[in-house]
Parts: sequence; structure tokens; C-alpha cells
Amino acid sequence: GPRIIPREEHPVSRSAMSANVLKVLTRLHNHGYAAYMVGGGVRDLLLGREPKDFDVATDATPDEVNSLFRNSRLIGRRFKIVHVHFGPEIIEVATFRAAAENGDGEVERSEDGMVLRDNVYGTLEEDAWRRDFSVNALYYNIADHSIVDYCGGWEDVQAGLLRMIGDPAERFREDPVRVLRAVRFAAKHGFRIERETEAPMRELGDLLNGVPPARLFEEVNKLFLSGAAVQSYELLRYYDVFRILFPITEEALQREEEGFPLLFLIRALENTDRRVNEGRPVTPAFLIAALLWEPVRQHVASARKAGENPGRALQVAAEQVVSGQVKHVAIPRRFSTAAREIWSLQDRFHQRAGKRPWKLMEHPRFRAAYDFLVLRAAAGEIDPEVSDWWTRFQDADEGERERMAAQQQ
Ligand code: ATP
Ligand code: MG
Repeated sequence: GPRIIPREEHPVSRSAMSANVLKVLTRLHNHGYAAYMVGGGVRDLLLGREPKDFDVATDATPDEVNSLFRNSRLIGRRFKIVHVHFGPEIIEVATFRAAAENGDGEVERSEDGMVLRDNVYGTLEEDAWRRDFSVNALYYNIADHSIVDYCGGWEDVQAGLLRMIGDPAERFREDPVRVLRAVRFAAKHGFRIERETEAPMRELGDLLNGVPPARLFEEVNKLFLSGAAVQSYELLRYYDVFRILFPITEEALQREEEGFPLLFLIRALENTDRRVNEGRPVTPAFLIAALLWEPVRQHVASARKAGENPGRALQVAAEQVVSGQVKHVAIPRRFSTAAREIWSLQDRFHQRAGKRPWKLMEHPRFRAAYDFLVLRAAAGEIDPEVSDWWTRFQDADEGERERMAAQQQ
């Protein structure tokens, strides 16, 4: 049987949960269903961190859940789950599900062993075993406030160990995105990846090539926009999967000259982490602009050497790099468009005479492009005089701005 950690022996308190997840759990419980909070919510509360979102597992079917909540919607075709909406907060409610292996439903696999369909309901225990890491398979039971542990997650959380449930190689094959999830949890929560879990990661990373680019975009965002981008980047390179997600960037970084390129990307990721951890907004567009900047910059430099005009050189470079990149990790159009704008505004920061500075400041992408410029200066890519000038210009009053622009004639 499972290990049950009674309420007196664990620190997960209802006051740390969102009021909405409690509403969902309580309502399910009051209608006679089993109801548990599971996954990142339990894990993060045990780590003393604020969970990003809350997931609920239940023995109620999706239709039963849906009819219990007015503010709910059935999601998904293959395997239905229910989203219960409370303003901006969404509580995800899933019916206990059996793993592909031990269910009696049909399981379709690709040649790589990737699970293509898994749509069998199961028991709480089966639901636990089909999850990825033991620390993600802890269940908080609303009935008695205990924590239920089938997979050893309780001890692993205490030890800070990220351990794959079952045979690691097999589980990575089933879903190669688990390689990225391992990196993310290690980077974000400081987990050490347990030895046997870690062993196949490098070798199986290549299977990420078979994952739809749109799903990889979601994962890349989570890796780089959760406040642990630098650590994620370093672990991605350590496990040899950065080159699978961003092959063009990887190649450009190999051609690094004078230490600039690596410095720029690290600076940009540090900057993103700082913003996230200060609660300031970060956009995928800025991240994409930073991740692809090095190859774009190199393309532009060689086109200019060949005599191409700067504007045209950038346009061609951006086009080539973005269209090559989206074969691996999808980038929604609105983000790639914004990234291109950030890049193409860079040259205009050097044109500071006349009315040009005012015009540039009106551009909707000015602020992001300026932040980008500051990072380039910090990385030694441009003269800091330029970014300093723009910093002062923004702070200056109108008279001072006139004088600053006049000096540029
Ligand atoms: P966070 O929300 O902080 O990113 P999380 O662990 O809650 O982390 P989610 O993607 O929200 O991650 O997934 C919720 C839970 O669903 C996980 O904790 C895990 O138990 C299970 N899960 C998610 N993705 C997978 C997967 N690819 N393979 C197996 N189980 C998964
Ligand atoms: Mg979650």
C-alpha cells in the first residue's frame, strides 16, 4: 500500500493553497468523490514555494466534474480534462488515469516507443505510477488532509532528488519532453537528478527531434521564463539538448569570436531571471530575440562584408534564422515579428540627429529594443556611449533632449 503522511506530520496547510483549488476539492468531496491536489502544487508547498498552478485528480469522470461546476469547460479530444475557471485562475481537474502499460485500453506507440494515445481511466494508484517524477506524484487528500505517496516522492522531496518513476530510459522514450522537464525542475527547484534517471538523458535527448515544435515552444517558455533561465541554459547544454532545440544558435556559438556571443546570451538570460524574480513582465519575443541574436548578428556581419546594405542584410538574416528555427521549436508569428522589430531597431539607435530620437521613442517596440541595446553594450558588442546616451535621453526634460540631439549633428 501507499505511505500515508498524516496532517500532523507534513507542512502542507490549506492556508497556503489558493481558495479556488480548495473550493474545487471540497465540492468534489461533498459530492462523494475522491479528490486530491497533485503534482507541482503539493511539491512546491513541500519545498516552501508558492505553486504556479494547482492540479486536481479525482475519480469523478470529466462529465461528472463538468456538471458540478458552472464555470467549467471540457478540454481535449484524446483524453478529456476539465478546466474550472475562477477569473484568471484555472484549476485543472483530471480523472484518475492508468499508465499506457498497465491499462487494458489500446496503446499506440511510434517506432521510437513514444506513446501516441493513452486514454484509460484508472485508480489513484495507477494515476500515481503514470506520472513522471516521484516528487510530482504526491497526492494531498482533501478527505483527511493527509499526503498519499506510492512512489517514494516524500523521501525524494526531503532529499532534493529528482527520480523518474519506473525505468528511466523507457519513460524518456515514451515522452522525450520529460528530458526537458527534468532540466526544468533541476534548474528551478535545485533538485539533483538521481543517477539512474540521469544516465540515459544525454543519449535520448535526440528523440526531442520527434516532438511537435509547438509543444517544444511551450516547454522552452517554461524553461526560460520561470526565473531560472541561466541555470536551465547551462543544464540544457550539459545534457547536450540545447543543440536540438536551437541548432542554429548552437552553431553560431561554436564560432564565437572574442568571447562576445556567449556573454550576450548569458547576460540576456540573467536579465530575464532578474525581471521574473522582481515580478516584472517578460515576453517570449524578447527571449526569442536574445536566443537567435548571435546567428542573426553573424549573418548580418558577413552580408555587410559582402557589400549588402545594412537594412537589407538584417532582413535576409532574420528571415533565414527564423525560418530555420521554427522547424525545431515553433515560434508564433506575433513573437517572431516582435523579435524582428527588436533587431531592426538596433541600427536606429545610432542615428541620433534631428527628430529621429523622438520618432524612435514612439515605436511600440522602443522599450524592448532599448533593453536589448543595453545588454549588447554590457556584452561589449557596441560602445556603451550609445546606450548611455539613450538612458540619459529618456530621463531628460525636453530642453535637455533638444541639446542632446543638437550635439549629434
Ligand atoms: P509546474 O506547474 O510548476 O511547471 P508541474 O509538476 O505541476 O510543474 P505540470 O506540467 O503542471 O507540471 O503537470 C502537472 C503534473 O502532471 C506533474 O506534476 C506530473 O505529475 C504530471 N505530468 C505532467 N507532464 C507529464 C509528463 N510529460 N509525463 C508524466 N507526467 C506528467
Ligand atoms: Mg502545474
